[in-house]
Amino acid sequence: MADTAAPSKTPSAPSPFMAQYLSIKARHANALLFFRMGDFYELFFEDAVQAARVLDITLTSRGEYEGRPIPMAGVPYHAAEGYLARLIKAGCRVAVCEQTETPAEAKKRGSKAIVNRDIVRIVTPGTLTEDALLPARQDQALAAIALGTGGTEAAIAVCDVSTGRFDVTALAAEALADSLMAYPLSELLVSEGDLDKPAIANASALSTAPVTFRPARSATHKSGEALLKETFGIAALEALGDFGRAELSAIGLLLDYVKLTQAGSEIRLDPPIRARAEGHLAIDPATRTSLEIDRSMRGDRDGSLLGTIDRTVTAPGARLLASRLARPSVDRAEIEARFDAVAWFADDRDTVESVRSSLRAAPDLERARTRLRLGRGGPRDLVAIGRALTASHEAASRLAETSSGLPPKIAEAIAALDLRNDSNLAALAEDLRKALSETPPTLARDGGFVAPGWDEALDEARGLRDDSRQIIAALQARYADETGISALKIKFNNVLGYFVDVPARHGDPLMKPPLSETFIHRQTLASNVRFSTQELSELAGKISRAEDEAKARELAIFDDFCQRIDALNTPLTRTAAAIADLDVAAASAEWAFEADAVRPLLTDDTTFKATGLRHPVVEAALKKEGQGFTANDLNLSGEDESGTRLLLVTGPNMAGKSTYLRQAALAVILAQAGLFVPARSLTLGLADRIFSRVGASDDLARGRSTFMVEMVETAAILNQATERSFVIMDEVGRGTSTWDGLAIAWTAVEHLHSVNKARALFATHYHELTKLVEDLPGAANASLRAKEWKDDLVFLHEVQAGPADKSYGVQVAKLAGLPKKAVKRAGQILKQLEAEPSAPESLPLFAAASLAPDTDESEGAETIGPSEVDLMLQKIDPDSLTPREALDLLYRLKSLGGD
Ligand code: ATP
Repeated sequence: MADTAAPSKTPSAPSPFMAQYLSIKARHANALLFFRMGDFYELFFEDAVQAARVLDITLTSRGEYEGRPIPMAGVPYHAAEGYLARLIKAGCRVAVCEQTETPAEAKKRGSKAIVNRDIVRIVTPGTLTEDALLPARQDQALAAIALGTGGTEAAIAVCDVSTGRFDVTALAAEALADSLMAYPLSELLVSEGDLDKPAIANASALSTAPVTFRPARSATHKSGEALLKETFGIAALEALGDFGRAELSAIGLLLDYVKLTQAGSEIRLDPPIRARAEGHLAIDPATRTSLEIDRSMRGDRDGSLLGTIDRTVTAPGARLLASRLARPSVDRAEIEARFDAVAWFADDRDTVESVRSSLRAAPDLERARTRLRLGRGGPRDLVAIGRALTASHEAASRLAETSSGLPPKIAEAIAALDLRNDSNLAALAEDLRKALSETPPTLARDGGFVAPGWDEALDEARGLRDDSRQIIAALQARYADETGISALKIKFNNVLGYFVDVPARHGDPLMKPPLSETFIHRQTLASNVRFSTQELSELAGKISRAEDEAKARELAIFDDFCQRIDALNTPLTRTAAAIADLDVAAASAEWAFEADAVRPLLTDDTTFKATGLRHPVVEAALKKEGQGFTANDLNLSGEDESGTRLLLVTGPNMAGKSTYLRQAALAVILAQAGLFVPARSLTLGLADRIFSRVGASDDLARGRSTFMVEMVETAAILNQATERSFVIMDEVGRGTSTWDGLAIAWTAVEHLHSVNKARALFATHYHELTKLVEDLPGAANASLRAKEWKDDLVFLHEVQAGPADKSYGVQVAKLAGLPKKAVKRAGQILKQLEAEPSAPESLPLFAAASLAPDTDESEGAETIGPSEVDLMLQKIDPDSLTPREALDLLYRLKSLGGD
């Protein structure tokens, strides 16, 4: 350990060590302080208690402070990453405090001086750069949100410090939450001065990532302007773009925090890309969740749209695909260009395979490059960059050779990746390949990563080091010969360095002339005597100088590469982007082959016309079980004979209504993300927004019941959907009483049809609604077919025109394994209800349930069918009972009947 000074025992004067600790801790009260002491990061006081609990490590104590023992816990520095990961996952922030000088340097300042220390970094959920702490195939978005002076304009500034990406979006305040949730948020920054502003409060309440509150002074347009100029070394902002006040405030909030977490060192981000919020298909958070775009309802990637279609083979490609699905485009030219790229690959599966096999060998260039620029990289990052350049060049040159008629996106990617187009990158790739060993260590200071033959001075130093070892071996042989002691050895330890070691019985002759002239006595142990010699000391000095020299050379070579990489930042950013583009195009073609997906035809009107449409996720799940998926058509173009733009979908439970609705919404998302769609054909007029209200769930954390959530979501749709929007609504109105629910569903359909005029699919169990189409010219009925067969229900999953004949709810309940008795009773109740003239035709199953509880009879299982008491009474023959049996029976009946 570097420090031996224990904290003071007197309350008034902390030891210099404790004083140093306390002053650093005071500056970072909100973070756990990882305090470097030799080979450990130590935590003290409350930090130690918290870390010990989260990490399940031993809590000890070290000295006293103000009369009480100081709790202490520590983690070894070489294993710190794993512990950091667990602390960050548990929602902690960690300030990493390093020794900024060696103990020897401290000693020079004074015999009792303690080593200087300082914070080098604050690790937070949104500012990670280590591979071990980050999901490789997902961006991490650190986002800052701010409003303009009037409160109607808002902005989001987002960066990923692990890749250097930096986006700024200006948008209307009411669109803030929707756009924000399109990012894979890992941390959200909010100014303390904005907490009372509804748009900001709403967006932060929706955030699934931790929200960090920052002082209002960092979120001003002045702070944004100053930090932009400082970060990108520019005198006038115009060089980067004409930013509004809200944008600059968000930028200020973001960059100030990045700077803080990097402990004041230079911010390494790429220049901001100004994204247009209106350039994307708007998807609100509820829709995003219910469509399971990047996460299933259970929160896993598996079972989500992204998890099902992702065939990318590189980490940048995976991240690009995720961001395309999260923010599909509304720019027809951009989408067509993406289609062109996929279509070009889709023509030729061999090319897809060969490109993918080259790209598979490309490590994550983006993150490696950023770690090196931040001074957190190591030799492995250099190797990663070299391999990524070589592998992507190989992919590009194969494509360049084999093909003609390249679509622009592919041509651009090839041009960026073909090293023949950039001599600097080519030289870098070549040098990295030659200079580095195949399996380098993680840390540059461990050395041994530069390949032999790369650097003459290094080879010489290494040669000297290795030769000297041989010379020592030869020297040992010579000394043994000269002294006649065959047991003489030359050994090494940290105290004496190299020394001559002989068994105790041979010690004497060496301490007497003439041998004592050569052998200088150093140490006598019980069984050995140790000596040094002039020659050996010289040799030892040479070895240690050679070792130092070799290490210094290696570090210099490492630094040299880092500088070259920094200087090539722009072309390397382009390379990373091109790898991602190429990977996504080839992967999308691969998925299109597998899923038999087709290129959609885009139009500028509001067409939605699909034939043979399928649900990619349900189909993939069924396929795993060896089952097929039934494709269905859907036409909401408003142009066919019936002029339908709103379809009311009815059918039994489990018939496939939700699936039919969702597959249409997913087709819009896939198409506008630039991907092919699992269908025989799809013609799509681009949508501006997509809405999905599917299934109900409580949002108890925000104080909303199931019904309230449902109504809030319905309200959002009816208030915001336009003629260009695409809406799916499933089972609206189920969370309340039948008549209220029916009334709400009725209104929603009318409103969607006549006011919003959006393309819409509306699934319902209210068969009464199916009559609505008679009054709404743009609406039609469709239903999912099911057949009754031998008292059982068979789902055909086929959509047909017209309403469903009935609900089959009771049959489905039977399929679900409801007790036979209950199914029978439900059947009886249903018959009764259907026969009652006041009851509407075909009431849904739940309606029967909600009508029943008003009568006392409905309570308790005994009321369904004959009770045990009934059965017993039926069996009694009073004439044949003895008085004793009659009395017993009375007791048994009493016990069954309760009080
Ligand atoms: P409920 O009214 O109970 O919500 P639903 O009518 O919405 O039911 P879905 O949830 O869409 O029914 O579908 C139920 C199951 O039927 C799905 O999980 C899937 O396994 C299967 N299924 C749905 N559509 C199809 C289809 N087109 N081809 C094959 N199987 C399908």
